[in-house]
Amino acid sequence: MSVLNTIVSLAAAASMMIGGALVEIAPQHNPNGMLFLVNRQEMVCEAYVPVELVEAHVPGSVRRMRPEAAAALEEMFAACKEETGATLISISGYRDYQKQTNIYRRKLRSVKQNVAKAQEYVAPPGASEHHTGLAMDIGQRDKKHLDAKFADTKGGIWCKENCWRFGFILRYGEEWEDITGYKYEPWHFRYVGKEKAKEITEANVPYETWMTGYRTEIIKGLLKEAEGE
Ligand SMILES: [Zn+2]
Repeated sequence: MSVLNTIVSLAAAASMMIGGALVEIAPQHNPNGMLFLVNRQEMVCEAYVPVELVEAHVPGSVRRMRPEAAAALEEMFAACKEETGATLISISGYRDYQKQTNIYRRKLRSVKQNVAKAQEYVAPPGASEHHTGLAMDIGQRDKKHLDAKFADTKGGIWCKENCWRFGFILRYGEEWEDITGYKYEPWHFRYVGKEKAKEITEANVPYETWMTGYRTEIIKGLLKEAEGE
C-alpha cells in the first residue's frame, strides 16, 4: 500500500468514526456496551451511571448488575449448584462512585494512608470495574470473605473453569498484575457476553491485552473496507 493510499484509507476510517462508528471502532469506550473498559487509566466520572441496573436473583448481597450480566449470573450460579453441589453467593456487584469512595477511604485508613498498598486490591473512585454494573465478586456460601482461598473451593475452581460458558471472564488473573494493576483476584468476574468470553478465555491474556488486539483487527477491517471502495 502506498503512503497516499494509507492516508486516504486512514481518512476514510476517521470519517467512519465521526459518522457514528466510534462505538464500533472503540468498544472499550462505549459505556452502554458489554466491552466497556474501566481501569486506572480509563476512569469514569462521578456522574456515570450504567444505563440500566437490576437485582440478580441469587443468594448473597449487593446484587445489582446490568440486566444481561444479572441473567448470566443467575444461570452460572444455578449451573455451579447443579454440577458441583456448591452454593455460590454474590458479595459485591454494582458500586457507585460514592460507595467506591467510602471503600477506598476505609482501605487507606487501614493501611495508614499507604496509597500503593491500598490500591493492590481496591480501586480509587472512578477506576473500579464494579462501577460498570458488569462485575461481580463471588464467594462460596461457607467462605464469605474475599480472599485467595476462594480459588481452592469447589465453587472457585468451577467458576474459573466454567465462567466463560456464561459470558464471564476471570478479570485479574495470576501474574497479570503489571497489566491489570491488580493482584490475583480469584473472586472477581466480569461479564463481556458469551462470544467474547470464550475468545478472551482461549487467548488467556488480560482483558486490556485482548482489547488491544481486538481493536487492531477492527481497524484493519475498516481500512480494508475503505480500500475496497
Ligand atoms: Zn471485584
